Amino acid sequence: MHKGYTRSETAFAEAKKLIPGGVNSPVRAFRAVGGSPVFIERGAGSKMYDIDGNEYIDYCLSWGPLILGHAHPEVVHAINEYALKGTSFGAPTLLETEMAQLVTEIMPSVEVVRMVNSGTEATMSALRLARGYTNRSKILKFEGCYHGHADSLLIKAGSGVATLGLPDSPGVPDSVASNTLTVPFNDFDSLKLAFEKFGDDIAAVILEPICGNMGLVKPREGYLQQIREITRQYGTLLIFDEVMTGFRAAYGGVQALYNIEPDLTTLGKVIGGGLPVGAYGGKREIMEMIAPAGPIYQAGTLSGNPLAMIAGYTTLKMLGEPGAYDRLEAMGKRLVEGFLATGQELGLPVTGAYVGGMMGTFFSEQEVVDYDTAKLCNLERYAKYFSLMLERGVYLAPSQLEAGFLSLAHTDADIDRTLEASRDAMKQL
Ligand code: PMP
Repeated sequence: MHKGYTRSETAFAEAKKLIPGGVNSPVRAFRAVGGSPVFIERGAGSKMYDIDGNEYIDYCLSWGPLILGHAHPEVVHAINEYALKGTSFGAPTLLETEMAQLVTEIMPSVEVVRMVNSGTEATMSALRLARGYTNRSKILKFEGCYHGHADSLLIKAGSGVATLGLPDSPGVPDSVASNTLTVPFNDFDSLKLAFEKFGDDIAAVILEPICGNMGLVKPREGYLQQIREITRQYGTLLIFDEVMTGFRAAYGGVQALYNIEPDLTTLGKVIGGGLPVGAYGGKREIMEMIAPAGPIYQAGTLSGNPLAMIAGYTTLKMLGEPGAYDRLEAMGKRLVEGFLATGQELGLPVTGAYVGGMMGTFFSEQEVVDYDTAKLCNLERYAKYFSLMLERGVYLAPSQLEAGFLSLAHTDADIDRTLEASRDAMKQL
């Protein structure tokens, strides 16, 4: 029996007096789905508990990082042990080299890697590096892809900016915006046209090689290869933003799944095991342009923080165990296929996809292949579905234009319960 949201509602009213919109990151505010966000007290495994005492099976997982589930005992133990030695030194530790070693083994295109504190920092730094390395000023991104909130990337972006309908944020100067080109995802002709016009001035193409910030959208067959070829032809760097997909779509990320070698890769979320981490890495020749090896400046007081490193390192090690990604994908397959089957049975138009520990579903008549088709999904229906699922103890992303996530802590019983709740909720739509 759901216990209601009274405490969360009061907490939200209080928070709004002191924090913009009551939250420290916009999509948490439940704007797209209505109602008060639930305030969380604790998490354990696949479950999250709110301050009113409700339990939820969590498919948001802090927006992706918690691939082992909440408060995984080994991760918590590792953090506790390390914290006794100190929380930050601002000087090198052996752990940072071990982490770099592990990341370069899992992702062979990453020969050298620099740790930062968020995905935003990773993409922002990778772009500076690309511009410095190529001595060119423009970058190209795809409509509906989100790469964090750096000025040059807040153009036609996905995630919260799409959910809130703010694709071109105020505060980004025209001089910056004019150096960001955007084209639709999955449409090679548009990309080719952009290259024919501006190719010699494009420092980098950046993309989510499987998109997760307009819902889950996969690349068409051969599309990533085409992007790899045209960027090579024009001497443009190819940046795979694997902040979400790294160690999640597959251990080695989308680049391993599709066997494509980007010049640079940006990482975040899973790599921090639930603590704040980002990273960017790639070819040695490019990465060694970064200070102090080279002249392009990038730094961070807390970068390579030992607690974040040990949480991430422990997580990555555990994910390397055989069968981890098969298990994640088997659960995603069951959830998405169950959702599609119920939709069909009840005459509700639905579509969906899954890969590794990621999944996405849309209430839509149409196949979703890019941002324009993603925006055609039925937002009102999702809002209602979200609330009905929440009441039934299932915590989904509070926006349809976001991916869903699975952890190794999720059980077959969780999936059974979720499918049951989903069927029950869909009957009421
Ligand atoms: N890139 C991608 C693909 C992301 O999904 C996100 C966050 N959702 C970011 C970058 C930004 O990461 P952060 O929120 O850690 O700054």
